[in-house]
Amino acid sequence: MNIKSFDQPIYVTKPFLPKLEDVTEKLQQIWDAAWLTNNGEQHQLLENELKNYLKVPYLSLFNNGTIALITACRALELTGEVITTPFTFAATPHVLTWNNLIPVFCDINPVTMNIDPAKIEAYITPKTSAILAVHVFGTPCEVDKIQRVADHHGLKVIYDAAHAFGVEKNNTGIGNFGDVSMYSFHATKLYHTAEGGALAVNDSELKAKIDLLKNFGIKNEDEVIFPGINGKMNEIQAALGLVNLKYVAEEVSNRKMIKAIYQQYLAELPGISFVQEQPSATSSYQYCVIRINEKLFGKSRDHVYHALKRYNVFARKYFYPLCSNYACYQHLPSAKADLLPVANQVAQEVLSLPFYGTLSEQEVVLICKIIQYIREN
Ligand SMILES: *Cc1c(COP(=O)(O)O)cnc(C)c1O
Repeated sequence: MNIKSFDQPIYVTKPFLPKLEDVTEKLQQIWDAAWLTNNGEQHQLLENELKNYLKVPYLSLFNNGTIALITACRALELTGEVITTPFTFAATPHVLTWNNLIPVFCDINPVTMNIDPAKIEAYITPKTSAILAVHVFGTPCEVDKIQRVADHHGLKVIYDAAHAFGVEKNNTGIGNFGDVSMYSFHATKLYHTAEGGALAVNDSELKAKIDLLKNFGIKNEDEVIFPGINGKMNEIQAALGLVNLKYVAEEVSNRKMIKAIYQQYLAELPGISFVQEQPSATSSYQYCVIRINEKLFGKSRDHVYHALKRYNVFARKYFYPLCSNYACYQHLPSAKADLLPVANQVAQEVLSLPFYGTLSEQEVVLICKIIQYIREN
Protein backbone atom coordinates (compact mmCIF):
# COMPACT_ATOMS: atom_id res chain seq x y z
CA MET A 1 0.00 0.00 0.00
CA ASN A 2 1.24 3.44 -0.80
CA ILE A 3 -0.09 6.41 1.05
CA LYS A 4 -0.84 9.80 -0.41
CA SER A 5 0.90 12.90 0.89
CA PHE A 6 -0.64 16.33 1.31
CA ASP A 7 -0.51 18.71 -1.68
CA GLN A 8 -0.08 21.69 0.63
CA PRO A 9 2.02 21.74 3.80
CA ILE A 10 0.10 21.07 7.01
CA TYR A 11 1.65 22.98 9.89
CA VAL A 12 1.25 22.36 13.59
CA THR A 13 -1.11 25.30 13.83
CA LYS A 14 -2.81 28.01 11.84
CA PRO A 15 -3.86 31.25 13.50
CA PHE A 16 -7.57 31.65 14.08
CA LEU A 17 -8.97 34.31 11.75
CA PRO A 18 -12.39 35.83 12.43
CA LYS A 19 -14.58 37.33 9.71
CA LEU A 20 -12.73 40.36 8.37
CA GLU A 21 -15.94 42.48 8.44
CA ASP A 22 -16.15 41.98 12.20
CA VAL A 23 -12.66 43.41 12.55
CA THR A 24 -13.15 46.34 10.17
CA GLU A 25 -16.28 47.33 12.09
CA LYS A 26 -14.15 47.50 15.24
CA LEU A 27 -11.40 49.38 13.41
CA GLN A 28 -13.98 51.99 12.39
CA GLN A 29 -14.69 52.59 16.09
CA ILE A 30 -10.97 53.08 16.73
CA TRP A 31 -10.67 55.49 13.79
CA ASP A 32 -13.69 57.45 15.03
CA ALA A 33 -12.21 57.69 18.51
CA ALA A 34 -8.75 58.55 17.09
CA TRP A 35 -7.21 56.75 20.11
CA LEU A 36 -4.68 54.02 19.31
CA THR A 37 -3.16 53.00 22.63
CA ASN A 38 -2.80 53.91 26.35
CA ASN A 39 -5.83 52.31 27.98
CA GLY A 40 -8.37 53.20 25.28
CA GLU A 41 -11.96 52.04 25.03
CA GLN A 42 -11.18 48.67 23.35
CA HIS A 43 -8.53 47.95 25.96
CA GLN A 44 -10.94 48.66 28.81
CA LEU A 45 -13.67 46.54 27.23
CA LEU A 46 -11.34 43.60 26.60
CA GLU A 47 -9.72 43.71 30.02
CA ASN A 48 -13.15 43.52 31.62
CA GLU A 49 -14.53 40.80 29.32
CA LEU A 50 -11.43 38.63 29.72
CA LYS A 51 -11.41 39.05 33.50
CA ASN A 52 -14.93 37.61 33.53
CA TYR A 53 -14.17 34.91 30.97
CA LEU A 54 -11.07 33.74 32.85
CA LYS A 55 -12.86 34.05 36.23
CA VAL A 56 -10.03 36.00 37.86
CA PRO A 57 -10.33 38.93 40.29
CA TYR A 58 -7.93 41.31 38.49
CA LEU A 59 -6.43 41.26 35.03
CA SER A 60 -3.91 43.51 33.31
CA LEU A 61 -3.46 43.32 29.51
CA PHE A 62 -0.01 43.38 27.89
CA ASN A 63 1.53 43.69 24.44
CA ASN A 64 2.80 40.10 24.74
CA GLY A 65 3.12 37.31 27.27
CA THR A 66 6.88 37.56 27.66
CA ILE A 67 6.85 41.24 28.64
CA ALA A 68 3.95 40.40 30.98
CA LEU A 69 6.03 37.73 32.71
CA ILE A 70 9.09 40.00 32.89
CA THR A 71 6.87 42.61 34.54
CA ALA A 72 5.45 40.03 36.97
CA CYS A 73 8.95 39.24 38.28
CA ARG A 74 9.59 42.98 38.70
CA ALA A 75 6.27 43.57 40.44
CA LEU A 76 7.02 40.82 42.97
CA GLU A 77 10.56 42.21 43.46
CA LEU A 78 12.15 38.80 43.01
CA THR A 79 15.85 38.37 43.72
CA GLY A 80 18.50 35.66 43.40
CA GLU A 81 17.27 32.27 42.23
CA VAL A 82 13.91 31.10 40.93
CA ILE A 83 13.01 27.42 40.70
CA THR A 84 11.42 26.53 37.38
CA THR A 85 10.92 23.74 34.86
CA PRO A 86 13.18 22.90 31.91
CA PHE A 87 10.20 21.51 29.95
CA THR A 88 8.75 24.73 28.59
CA PHE A 89 9.07 27.38 25.89
CA ALA A 90 12.23 29.50 25.84
CA ALA A 91 10.39 32.55 27.22
CA THR A 92 9.96 30.99 30.69
CA PRO A 93 13.64 30.89 31.76
CA HIS A 94 14.49 33.93 29.61
CA VAL A 95 12.24 36.24 31.64
CA LEU A 96 14.23 35.28 34.71
CA THR A 97 17.50 36.09 32.95
CA TRP A 98 16.09 39.46 31.82
CA ASN A 99 15.46 40.20 35.51
CA ASN A 100 19.01 39.18 36.52
CA LEU A 101 17.53 36.13 38.23
CA ILE A 102 19.09 32.69 37.97
CA PRO A 103 16.83 29.91 36.72
CA VAL A 104 17.13 26.71 38.75
CA PHE A 105 15.77 23.76 36.80
CA CYS A 106 13.74 21.17 38.70
CA ASP A 107 12.61 17.85 37.20
CA ILE A 108 9.03 17.16 36.10
CA ASN A 109 6.26 14.68 36.76
CA PRO A 110 6.34 11.89 34.14
CA VAL A 111 2.58 11.98 33.56
CA THR A 112 1.59 15.66 33.72
CA MET A 113 4.99 16.87 32.45
CA ASN A 114 4.68 19.77 34.94
CA ILE A 115 7.25 20.64 37.63
CA ASP A 116 7.35 17.91 40.30
CA PRO A 117 6.46 19.58 43.64
CA ALA A 118 8.18 16.81 45.59
CA LYS A 119 11.51 17.77 44.03
CA ILE A 120 11.32 21.54 44.57
CA GLU A 121 12.39 21.66 48.20
CA ALA A 122 15.84 20.17 47.52
CA TYR A 123 16.64 23.23 45.38
CA ILE A 124 15.66 25.90 47.91
CA THR A 125 18.60 27.97 49.21
CA PRO A 126 18.73 31.31 51.06
CA LYS A 127 18.86 32.94 47.62
CA THR A 128 15.61 31.43 46.36
CA SER A 129 12.79 33.98 46.03
CA ALA A 130 10.13 32.23 43.94
CA ILE A 131 8.81 29.24 42.03
CA LEU A 132 7.93 29.81 38.37
CA ALA A 133 5.81 26.86 37.25
CA VAL A 134 4.17 26.22 33.88
CA HIS A 135 0.78 24.60 33.24
CA VAL A 136 2.30 22.66 30.34
CA PHE A 137 -0.11 21.96 27.47
CA GLY A 138 -2.87 23.37 29.69
CA THR A 139 -2.65 20.62 32.33
CA PRO A 140 -2.85 22.36 35.72
CA CYS A 141 0.17 22.06 38.01
CA GLU A 142 -0.26 20.54 41.47
CA VAL A 143 -1.08 24.01 42.75
CA ASP A 144 -1.83 23.01 46.36
CA LYS A 145 1.45 21.18 46.82
CA ILE A 146 3.42 24.00 45.17
CA GLN A 147 1.72 26.56 47.42
CA ARG A 148 2.50 24.50 50.52
CA VAL A 149 6.22 24.41 49.67
CA ALA A 150 6.19 28.13 48.84
CA ASP A 151 4.40 29.10 52.06
CA HIS A 152 6.72 26.97 54.15
CA HIS A 153 9.76 28.82 52.75
CA GLY A 154 8.27 32.27 52.16
CA LEU A 155 8.50 32.08 48.36
CA LYS A 156 6.35 33.76 45.71
CA VAL A 157 4.60 31.61 43.11
CA ILE A 158 4.23 32.61 39.49
CA TYR A 159 2.42 30.52 36.89
CA ASP A 160 3.12 30.61 33.19
CA ALA A 161 -0.43 29.88 32.01
CA ALA A 162 0.35 30.55 28.34
CA HIS A 163 -1.23 27.19 27.40
CA ALA A 164 -4.07 27.34 29.87
CA PHE A 165 -6.51 29.88 28.46
CA GLY A 166 -9.94 29.19 29.93
CA VAL A 167 -8.75 26.21 32.01
CA GLU A 168 -10.59 25.71 35.29
CA LYS A 169 -9.58 23.54 38.21
CA ASN A 170 -12.37 22.62 40.63
CA ASN A 171 -14.49 25.28 38.88
CA THR A 172 -11.91 27.95 39.67
CA GLY A 173 -10.19 29.91 36.91
CA ILE A 174 -6.58 28.68 36.68
CA GLY A 175 -5.34 32.28 37.04
CA ASN A 176 -6.47 32.39 40.68
CA PHE A 177 -3.58 30.24 41.91
CA GLY A 178 -0.24 31.61 43.07
CA ASP A 179 0.65 35.29 43.25
CA VAL A 180 0.55 36.01 39.52
CA SER A 181 -0.44 34.06 36.39
CA MET A 182 0.57 34.95 32.86
CA TYR A 183 -1.55 34.34 29.77
CA SER A 184 -0.23 34.64 26.22
CA PHE A 185 -2.42 35.81 23.34
CA HIS A 186 0.14 35.13 20.62
CA ALA A 187 -1.22 34.29 17.16
CA THR A 188 -0.44 30.59 17.65
CA LYS A 189 -2.35 30.32 20.90
CA LEU A 190 -5.92 29.03 21.19
CA TYR A 191 -7.16 32.57 21.82
CA HIS A 192 -5.13 35.46 20.45
CA THR A 193 -4.76 39.18 19.79
CA ALA A 194 -2.01 38.63 17.11
CA GLU A 195 0.52 39.47 19.84
CA GLY A 196 -0.65 39.97 23.39
CA GLY A 197 -0.81 38.71 26.92
CA ALA A 198 -2.12 39.38 30.40
CA LEU A 199 -1.34 39.00 34.08
CA ALA A 200 -3.97 37.78 36.52
CA VAL A 201 -3.59 38.67 40.20
CA ASN A 202 -5.64 38.37 43.38
CA ASP A 203 -5.08 41.75 44.94
CA SER A 204 -5.83 45.27 43.83
CA GLU A 205 -2.54 46.77 45.03
CA LEU A 206 -0.52 44.36 42.93
CA LYS A 207 -2.77 45.08 39.94
CA ALA A 208 -2.14 48.84 40.41
CA LYS A 209 1.62 48.26 40.62
CA ILE A 210 1.60 46.12 37.48
CA ASP A 211 -0.41 48.76 35.61
CA LEU A 212 2.18 51.37 36.58
CA LEU A 213 5.12 49.13 35.67
CA LYS A 214 3.74 48.39 32.20
CA ASN A 215 3.47 52.14 31.48
CA PHE A 216 7.05 53.23 32.27
CA GLY A 217 6.23 53.65 35.99
CA ILE A 218 4.45 56.92 35.21
CA LYS A 219 2.15 57.70 38.13
CA ASN A 220 0.98 61.08 36.88
CA GLU A 221 2.25 64.00 34.85
CA ASP A 222 4.63 65.01 37.62
CA GLU A 223 5.84 61.66 39.01
CA VAL A 224 7.61 58.58 37.64
CA ILE A 225 7.96 56.16 40.53
CA PHE A 226 9.51 52.97 39.08
CA PRO A 227 11.82 52.09 36.20
CA GLY A 228 8.90 50.65 34.22
CA ILE A 229 8.65 49.23 30.75
CA ASN A 230 6.33 49.68 27.78
CA GLY A 231 4.06 46.64 28.10
CA LYS A 232 0.84 48.18 26.89
CA MET A 233 -1.60 46.40 24.59
CA ASN A 234 -2.78 48.71 21.80
CA GLU A 235 -6.34 49.32 20.57
CA ILE A 236 -5.97 47.27 17.38
CA GLN A 237 -4.80 44.23 19.35
CA ALA A 238 -7.62 44.73 21.86
CA ALA A 239 -10.22 45.05 19.08
CA LEU A 240 -9.04 41.79 17.50
CA GLY A 241 -9.22 40.24 20.95
CA LEU A 242 -12.83 41.36 21.45
CA VAL A 243 -13.81 39.83 18.12
CA ASN A 244 -11.89 36.58 18.71
CA LEU A 245 -13.41 36.12 22.13
CA LYS A 246 -16.80 35.61 20.48
CA TYR A 247 -15.43 32.65 18.54
CA VAL A 248 -13.34 30.93 21.18
CA ALA A 249 -16.06 28.47 22.28
CA GLU A 250 -16.57 27.41 18.66
CA GLU A 251 -12.82 26.98 18.16
CA VAL A 252 -12.65 24.80 21.29
CA SER A 253 -15.52 22.61 20.11
CA ASN A 254 -13.90 22.16 16.67
CA ARG A 255 -10.66 21.16 18.34
CA LYS A 256 -12.50 18.73 20.62
CA MET A 257 -13.78 16.90 17.55
CA ILE A 258 -10.34 16.86 15.95
CA LYS A 259 -8.75 15.49 19.10
CA ALA A 260 -11.40 12.76 19.29
CA ILE A 261 -10.47 11.63 15.76
CA TYR A 262 -6.76 11.57 16.57
CA GLN A 263 -7.54 9.50 19.67
CA GLN A 264 -9.81 7.13 17.79
CA TYR A 265 -7.09 6.29 15.26
CA LEU A 266 -3.91 6.59 17.29
CA ALA A 267 -4.65 5.70 20.91
CA GLU A 268 -4.77 2.00 20.18
CA LEU A 269 -1.39 1.94 18.44
CA PRO A 270 1.16 0.35 20.80
CA GLY A 271 3.60 2.93 22.14
CA ILE A 272 1.43 6.00 21.53
CA SER A 273 -0.16 7.83 24.42
CA PHE A 274 -2.05 11.08 24.79
CA VAL A 275 -1.71 13.61 27.60
CA GLN A 276 -4.14 12.47 30.30
CA GLU A 277 -6.94 14.84 31.14
CA GLN A 278 -7.49 15.49 34.84
CA PRO A 279 -10.96 14.77 36.25
CA SER A 280 -10.91 17.98 38.34
CA ALA A 281 -9.87 20.26 35.47
CA THR A 282 -11.05 21.36 32.05
CA SER A 283 -8.71 21.10 29.07
CA SER A 284 -7.44 24.09 27.09
CA TYR A 285 -7.27 22.36 23.68
CA GLN A 286 -4.15 24.42 23.03
CA TYR A 287 -2.11 21.50 21.68
CA CYS A 288 -2.67 17.89 20.72
CA VAL A 289 0.42 16.13 22.04
CA ILE A 290 1.27 12.46 21.75
CA ARG A 291 4.15 10.60 23.31
CA ILE A 292 5.93 7.95 21.34
CA ASN A 293 7.58 5.15 23.28
CA GLU A 294 10.23 3.93 20.86
CA LYS A 295 10.43 0.41 22.29
CA LEU A 296 6.70 -0.23 22.02
CA PHE A 297 6.05 1.76 18.85
CA GLY A 298 9.05 0.40 16.96
CA LYS A 299 10.09 3.82 15.67
CA SER A 300 11.47 6.81 17.52
CA ARG A 301 9.76 10.19 17.85
CA ASP A 302 12.49 11.70 15.69
CA HIS A 303 11.89 9.07 13.01
CA VAL A 304 8.16 9.87 12.96
CA TYR A 305 8.82 13.63 12.97
CA HIS A 306 11.15 13.39 9.94
CA ALA A 307 9.01 10.85 8.09
CA LEU A 308 5.90 13.06 8.48
CA LYS A 309 7.72 15.87 6.68
CA ARG A 310 8.00 13.68 3.59
CA TYR A 311 4.19 13.67 3.53
CA ASN A 312 4.08 17.45 3.94
CA VAL A 313 3.05 17.24 7.61
CA PHE A 314 5.04 19.52 9.91
CA ALA A 315 4.53 18.35 13.48
CA ARG A 316 6.64 19.97 16.22
CA LYS A 317 8.79 18.52 19.00
CA TYR A 318 7.42 20.73 21.80
CA PHE A 319 9.40 20.91 24.12
CA TYR A 320 12.61 19.67 22.62
CA PRO A 321 15.31 20.77 23.26
CA LEU A 322 14.82 21.26 26.98
CA CYS A 323 15.67 24.78 28.20
CA SER A 324 18.33 23.20 30.43
CA ASN A 325 20.12 22.02 27.29
CA TYR A 326 20.20 25.43 25.57
CA ALA A 327 23.70 26.83 25.03
CA CYS A 328 22.85 29.74 27.35
CA TYR A 329 21.72 27.53 30.27
CA GLN A 330 23.63 24.25 30.04
CA HIS A 331 26.42 25.61 32.25
CA LEU A 332 24.05 25.96 35.23
CA PRO A 333 24.57 23.36 37.98
CA SER A 334 20.85 22.49 37.86
CA ALA A 335 20.96 21.90 34.08
CA LYS A 336 22.87 18.59 34.23
CA ALA A 337 20.94 15.87 32.44
CA ASP A 338 21.41 13.33 35.24
CA LEU A 339 19.54 15.67 37.59
CA LEU A 340 16.64 15.93 35.14
CA PRO A 341 16.07 12.31 34.04
CA VAL A 342 12.30 12.58 33.56
CA ALA A 343 12.43 15.81 31.57
CA ASN A 344 15.22 14.47 29.33
CA GLN A 345 13.21 11.30 28.67
CA VAL A 346 9.92 13.13 28.01
CA ALA A 347 11.63 15.56 25.61
CA GLN A 348 12.59 12.55 23.43
CA GLU A 349 9.00 11.27 23.29
CA VAL A 350 6.71 14.24 22.69
CA LEU A 351 5.24 15.22 19.36
CA SER A 352 2.75 18.02 18.85
CA LEU A 353 0.36 17.15 16.02
CA PRO A 354 -1.33 19.64 13.67
CA PHE A 355 -4.19 21.11 15.68
CA TYR A 356 -6.45 23.99 14.71
CA GLY A 357 -10.17 24.43 14.19
CA THR A 358 -10.14 24.53 10.39
CA LEU A 359 -8.33 21.20 10.04
CA SER A 360 -10.84 18.94 8.28
CA GLU A 361 -11.86 15.45 9.35
CA GLN A 362 -10.32 13.98 6.16
CA GLU A 363 -7.04 15.75 6.86
CA VAL A 364 -6.88 14.42 10.42
CA VAL A 365 -7.69 10.90 9.26
CA LEU A 366 -4.95 11.09 6.61
CA ILE A 367 -2.39 12.29 9.19
CA CYS A 368 -3.34 9.30 11.38
CA LYS A 369 -3.02 6.89 8.45
CA ILE A 370 0.39 8.31 7.59
CA ILE A 371 1.53 7.73 11.19
CA GLN A 372 0.23 4.13 11.04
CA TYR A 373 2.04 3.66 7.73
CA ILE A 374 5.28 5.10 9.13
CA ARG A 375 5.05 2.62 11.99
CA GLU A 376 4.67 -0.36 9.66
CA ASN A 377 7.35 0.63 7.17
C1 LIG B 1 3.72 31.36 24.01
C2 LIG B 1 4.42 31.13 25.28
C3 LIG B 1 5.06 32.16 25.99
C4 LIG B 1 5.33 33.51 25.40
O1 LIG B 1 4.25 34.25 25.12
P1 LIG B 1 4.35 35.45 24.04
O2 LIG B 1 2.99 36.06 24.12
O3 LIG B 1 4.63 34.81 22.71
O4 LIG B 1 5.42 36.36 24.47
C5 LIG B 1 5.58 31.88 27.25
N1 LIG B 1 5.51 30.66 27.78
C6 LIG B 1 4.95 29.63 27.13
C7 LIG B 1 4.89 28.29 27.79
C8 LIG B 1 4.41 29.82 25.85
O5 LIG B 1 3.87 28.78 25.19
